[in-house]
Amino acid sequence: MGDTALIEVKQLTKIFGPHQEKALELLNQGWSKKRIFTETKQTVGVNRASFTVKEGEIFVIMGLSGSGKSTLIRLLNRLIEPTDGSILFRGENIVDMNEERLREFRRTAMSMVFQKFALFPHKTVVQNVEFGLEVQKVPAKIRREKAREALALVGLEEWADQYPDQLSGGMQQRVGLARALANSPQVLLMDEAFSALDPMIRKDMQEELRELQEKLKKTIIFITHDLNEALRIGDRIALMKDGSIVQIGTPEEIMITPANEYVEKFIEDVD
Ligand code: ADP
Ligand code: MG
Repeated sequence: MGDTALIEVKQLTKIFGPHQEKALELLNQGWSKKRIFTETKQTVGVNRASFTVKEGEIFVIMGLSGSGKSTLIRLLNRLIEPTDGSILFRGENIVDMNEERLREFRRTAMSMVFQKFALFPHKTVVQNVEFGLEVQKVPAKIRREKAREALALVGLEEWADQYPDQLSGGMQQRVGLARALANSPQVLLMDEAFSALDPMIRKDMQEELRELQEKLKKTIIFITHDLNEALRIGDRIALMKDGSIVQIGTPEEIMITPANEYVEKFIEDVD
């Protein structure tokens, strides 16, 4: 892993509601998320988050349900428009991109893997994997090649012509992963991608993801609400609470020097 910053996020804020500017002012005056909601009914999704993601690392965003993880990851490719702040990708501010540039950026820079794998039941495994490339009008021969390569990466080349319902949950999630990889994105975004899996399969997937990352050196942003998973997978972890990042560090740093009582409480549950 190099030390080059691939993504640089500065003071990124998202407020949901029609009075974002007013709420932003209150936030900058130090009001809490709770107080802003009580008095203005605006929801602070992400509160002035700043961090960098390095080229080739697995950067984990970890926090309880409602802490702002999904909002944060969606801000990164502007599936959600930020209220304030900037997101530099190789120095280019995503917030300033026009529609055309943004479309291209989304196609080439980032691919998302979801918790619900959303595979088409009537398509075979390989057809599912090449679907995104088909939408982008990649010629049939090339997309089939790319899809098979991606399936090989997740160990499913033998299953290419089966249908999703013939696969276990873990295998279906690997198909979802292959579909994202087939795009050859610069960053993989994974939002609770393993959260629906059985504990044993989930551990296997965590190991496989680490092995895959060592092979591909892909930059991965991985969301989870499970600290054990975060510690196993992450090169670095950002811990979120109520929309704010409370600590960023390597697993060791977080275990040895928790930033505050909140983080301390979390690490009591580590197995
Ligand atoms: P997480 O992914 O960590 O569970 P989310 O990013 O989904 O958290 O949500 C963060 C906060 O933003 C929550 O308080 C949630 O209710 C709020 N929120 C998320 N999306 C919306 C939306 N579209 N409209 C209003 N509030 C939202
Ligand atoms: Mg979420």
